[in-house]
Amino acid sequence: MGEDKNAVIRRMADLLRAGATMLQERCPICGSPLFRLRNGEVVCPIHGRVYIVRSDEEAAKITLKGVLEKLEESIVFKLNSLQRRVNEGGVEEAREIIAWLEALERIERLVSPPTSPKKAEDKG
Ligand SMILES: [Zn+2]
Repeated sequence: MGEDKNAVIRRMADLLRAGATMLQERCPICGSPLFRLRNGEVVCPIHGRVYIVRSDEEAAKITLKGVLEKLEESIVFKLNSLQRRVNEGGVEEAREIIAWLEALERIERLVSPPTSPKKAEDKG
């Protein structure tokens, strides 16, 4: 364990030399003190970039985002398999597809809320 610890200390020294500041927060994975780099990024000397969660609300948001992203993947997968069944025709399939698309749309809205909507209207 001794050598590992030395490596971590050396890494911390490197971070400090690079102008990083030691924070009060600790790495949620290993408990090492975290450092804020000059560019604002927060890193653990062992794990590299980490997310600091300041409140339960923020934690919930991060978790929600993770869940939504996974959900999005599953829905795309689902749509893909539904698409193959569309040829056999069926209102059921169509309804299912619409429902999944709606779900996707909602997820999309939650994951990346629209920032300044740009209208690409080219008129000579
Ligand atoms: Zn860590």
